[in-house]
Order: sequence, then structure tokens, then C-alpha cells
Amino acid sequence: MVSTHPGGVQLSAQQYLPQASSKNINISPNQELLPLSAKVNSHDHLEIGGCDVITLVRQFGSPLYILDEETLRTTCRQYRESFQHYYKGQSQVLYASKAWSCLAVCAIAASEGLGIDVVSGGELYTALNAGVSPEKIYFHGNNKSREELVFATESGCTIVVDNWYELHTLVEIAENLERLGDGEMKGSFHPIRIMLRLTPGIECHTHEYIRTGHLDSKFGFDPNDLDELFSFVSKQSVLNCVGLHAHIGSQVFERQPHQDLAAVMVQWMGKAADYGLTVTELNVGGGLGIKYIESDDPPSIEEWVKPICEVIQTACAAENLPLPKLLCEPGRSLIATACVTAYTVGSSKVVPDIRTYLAVDGGMSDNPRPITYQSVYRTIVANRMSAPLTETVTIAGKHCESGDILIENAQLPKTQPGDVLVVMATGAYNYSMASNYNRLPRPAAVVVANGEANLILQRETYQDLIRQDCLPERLKN
Ligand SMILES: *Cc1c(COP(=O)(O)O)cnc(C)c1O
Repeated sequence: MVSTHPGGVQLSAQQYLPQASSKNINISPNQELLPLSAKVNSHDHLEIGGCDVITLVRQFGSPLYILDEETLRTTCRQYRESFQHYYKGQSQVLYASKAWSCLAVCAIAASEGLGIDVVSGGELYTALNAGVSPEKIYFHGNNKSREELVFATESGCTIVVDNWYELHTLVEIAENLERLGDGEMKGSFHPIRIMLRLTPGIECHTHEYIRTGHLDSKFGFDPNDLDELFSFVSKQSVLNCVGLHAHIGSQVFERQPHQDLAAVMVQWMGKAADYGLTVTELNVGGGLGIKYIESDDPPSIEEWVKPICEVIQTACAAENLPLPKLLCEPGRSLIATACVTAYTVGSSKVVPDIRTYLAVDGGMSDNPRPITYQSVYRTIVANRMSAPLTETVTIAGKHCESGDILIENAQLPKTQPGDVLVVMATGAYNYSMASNYNRLPRPAAVVVANGEANLILQRETYQDLIRQDCLPERLKN
């Protein structure tokens, strides 16, 4: 069976190429399946960033994460420029680095003027080592350890306080620091810059959203506690509360939930003012969805930013409040489409009348999203881009786990061992959630631009796998 368009045109992997040049600002990368620089070259191979994907796999090995610098820079710019265009106050876009935290990705985002969101000491350490200025780093998390809070305080980043326990711990840490500052280092203490994370009571799903009076989430302060919270924080001279934060979910396609959130946050800001708290920053979180399969239809970056800015401006004018500095923190929509994963095809198994399994040299260890969230992906054979799609196969990983299926019912040309399969839109929550299950070394990653490929993550070796292992003397054979 050959897949065809309704018009009768035979489908090939070419259908996934971006439709126009990336210079066209109207292309929002989160609405594409392949990176903006994707092309088919004269060998009928997929090319990204001017690099032949088959050559990259030969050079750097398989599986391989391939990050297109142009796509990542374009998403960063579209976010930044959309805010500059639609928002009359100051704005700052942050990259939620949990989507893919490594030195190169943080450095690229920072070079585009973005700040970085971190949710652990490890992500903070990565961002600092990537050269990100601490003034542009925001530290989230619902259970930061005391060590992490001290590290964050010393680094000078802003701490997004999630709950009462953290708030009390932070006051204690700050008072200790202030006391130390009274001695030799007199005058060296500065109140710790914090924001408060609130649970807005807005839930969203891909195709609907519901409001609930009380949202069942592990994150953030209960909005019913606002009076107590603002009253407490306003009395802490060791803390400098600059803003409020909320994040409502991920892979969101509707725009209404974020507009509702923006309106609610302005109400909170007004309430903080009643307690003498001058809140100058509002962070509306991340969550804009991306296209993983043809039927996914997320708004563009610009379409997402514009109404949020409008709602905040209108609400501030109505409440007679000064415009806050507006922050948002996309993860997935910033990085996902910029990266693909290349695998090499190995064995296959035909289960008569049921399905054909095609196995690749990675799986749930480099992309745990299908087995964790039943996420769907599209894949193409990168060394035969114009071949008609004639087969329906199930792409299996190589792990000892029946559920290690990357893609069900993939439409592919006839394949053979050694073919290179490219799975699209793997930049977010793939490497960052990767594991060494079955002691598979984690893949390498390269960044590609203008025909050049540079390693950004080395492939792990077998030595790396046993580096943390200890064999006590008495257990040695
Ligand atoms: C996960 C998360 C984000 C990023 O979400 P995306 O859906 O990847 O954009 C932003 N802020 C917070 C607090 C998060 O937990």
C-alpha cells in the first residue's frame, strides 16, 4: 500500500520539510516537524544546518542527537521580538533548561538575550558554567534542599519560592548571612531576591481547560493563603520579593488558559500592593505546545505572546497599576523542533497479520517520552528522502522491555539494516530525561550550522558507565 495525498500524489519524507525559508518570520518553528534548515541534498539525503545527516552519523556515531542552531536561535528571537513588539513594558524571556540542560544550549539561549530557568543545583551549576549571568537565572522547584538554597543565594540568582517550608528556611539562611555580614564583612549582605510561585487554579488540557477553585498540584502556594503570605513576606527585611510566578502546564494548544492566568496574576499584583509589597515582575510560565505529528496545530510563538501582553496591559490599566516586567519561560517550544535523533536500523521481526517490528540502536534510554507519556513521534529514512512511503512498521528500541516502542505504525519506505532513521522534534525532554538503562552509553550530540558540526555532548563510553561504581575490597574476586 502506497500512502497518497487526497490528490493522489505519492507521499515521501519530503512532506515534512519546512514550507518556506526561515528568513520568513511567519514560520514559527513550533509549527514545523523538521528544523528550519532541513533540506534534501543531491544524494537524496536529509541535510540539517548544511550537514548531511548520514555523514554526521558516520563521523559521530549512532544514535546521535543533531541540534540545528538556526532553529534554536530563531525561536529565541521570535519570543524576544514578540514581547518587544506587543508589550509596552520591560520583558525577559527565560529558557526552561530542564527541557535540555547542557552548556552549549544554555550558552546559545543566553547569547540570544534569554535568561535561564533552573530547577536544581545541577541545572544552576550548568547555567553558571555556560556563562549565564546570575541576574538572569531563576531557580524553581518544590523541594529545594538547604544546600541548593545556599548555593542559589551565593550565586546571586533569583529564587522562586514554592511553599512555606522553603520560605521559612530561606529566611533562616538569610538571617544567618546577615548576621555574618554584621562582622568583618559589614554591609555586604543584600536581601535575597525572590519571587513567589502561586497555584492559579487554572487547569489546561490539550483540547479543553477547566477552572477549579482548588487545584490539585504539588507546586506553589495556595491562592487562598495570599493574605497570610503577602503579610508575612512584606515583614521580612532579609527578603526582596520582586515578583509572582505561575506555570499552568505543558504542550498547551489553547491560548485562553494563559490569558486567564495573565488576568489573575494582575489581580494578585494588586493585592500584593495592598500589603506594601511592590511586585515589579510577573512570570506567566511556559507551556506553549509544538507539532509532533501532522494533526498537531499549536499557535505560533507570536500568537501565544500577543494576547498575554494585551491582557496584562488592559488589566494593569483598569487597576491603575504600573506595567510589571513581564517574564515567560518556554522549554519545549524553544528547543524541541531544533533537534532530531538519528538511529541506525538493525533487526526486524514480522509478526504475520499483526505487525512488523523494526529495531533501532537506541530507544527508551535516549527518548523516554513514548513509554512514559505515550507520546507520539514521526520518523523518516534520512538516506532515501524521496522514496515513497510503502510500509507500515513499528519502531522498537533495543531495551529489555516490551514497552520499549518508539513509534507505532510509522509510514516508511522499504527499509534495510544500516538505514538511518531520523525521529523528529526530540530536542525537549529527551536528552534531559535520558538514562543508562541496560547500561547503554548515552548518545553524543552535535550542533550544526553553515555546514559545520561541533560536538556538544560526548558519547558516553563503557568506562563512563562504571566510573561511579565502587567495588569494596572484600567483594573482589
Ligand atoms: C516545565 C516548566 C516550564 C517549561 O514548560 P514547557 O512546557 O516545556 O514550556 C516552565 N516553568 C516551569 C515552572 C516548569 O515546571
